[in-house]
Amino acid sequence: ATAAPYCGRFAPSPTGPLHAGSLVAALASWLDARAHGGTWLVRIEDIDPPRCQPGADQYILQQLAQCGLHPDAPPVWQSQRQAHYAAALEQLRHSDLAYPCGCGRRDLEAAWAAQGVVHVRHVERPYPGTCRHGLHGKPARSWRFRLDEYVRDWPARQAAGATPAGFVLEDGCLQWQDRRLGPQTQRPVEAVGDFILQRADGLYAYQLAVVVDDALQGITHVVRGEDLTDNTPRQMLLQHALGVPTPAYLHTPLVLMPDGEKLSKQHGATPLDLSDPLFALYQAASVLGLPPVESPATIPDALHTWVLNWQGFYNAARDRYSSYPRCP
Ligand code: GLU
Repeated sequence: ATAAPYCGRFAPSPTGPLHAGSLVAALASWLDARAHGGTWLVRIEDIDPPRCQPGADQYILQQLAQCGLHPDAPPVWQSQRQAHYAAALEQLRHSDLAYPCGCGRRDLEAAWAAQGVVHVRHVERPYPGTCRHGLHGKPARSWRFRLDEYVRDWPARQAAGATPAGFVLEDGCLQWQDRRLGPQTQRPVEAVGDFILQRADGLYAYQLAVVVDDALQGITHVVRGEDLTDNTPRQMLLQHALGVPTPAYLHTPLVLMPDGEKLSKQHGATPLDLSDPLFALYQAASVLGLPPVESPATIPDALHTWVLNWQGFYNAARDRYSSYPRCP
């Protein structure tokens, strides 16, 4: 709940062209903005140059335009916003909420092994705390967010009158509402720990960049793919630490491959066929549970119908849920 005028965004990483999965997030964020009479922005998240594909940014913008999804302001590129991320990191360092870490992969593996933390495929292991209390003579490589301490000190911080948060943190369990998925929980200490803000190669981490940009761009509503759901608690804690508001979140259904894996560029998703954008939009709309539009329709007709259908559609989701699941 926020009094600021609705501002939403689509934030693709230009690691390749849009595919059927990313169009779902693009369409949903556009529809949500239009249904709220709000603003819709596009932000190119080219913060990790080694992963970016040259030209993919322009190609994505062209794909969006061909689907009739036009941003209300010129897009921004994260690669041109380093100074903002540096300032945010500086702010966190200043309040001792960020600290340097001298550990590489091998140090972390050794610490995990010593702590008996097993590696499960696709499951991130929380930072083992190696440099939390100092570098032990190692040179600084990366910068981390002091999450463990932030969570532990939460009750004292709130009692001392800290800014109210857009989430509940009780006994280490962070609870928040997703507009589509309903109540969500995560134990950030066990799930992620003191996560990276700036990497050893100097690149700023997605978590920091996304929080800084959502805040500076005045984003009130984040609509994005469900694969990012478990990043949300980290982003909420960072927002609170930086003193910026927490937007409302809605995570959209993923397009799955026949083997149940998420459709992704890494997984060989084929780029959207630009020769038939309406067909691509129909498919994305059906993933979102929107009704088919009577054919033959034009792109503006189809989008208009879906905006009308969107009203109340996902906003009603919260009424379906009343309580939080137990924190795992
Ligand atoms: N750039 C991220 C991605 O393409 C999305 C970030 C976000 O929407 O918060 O996966």
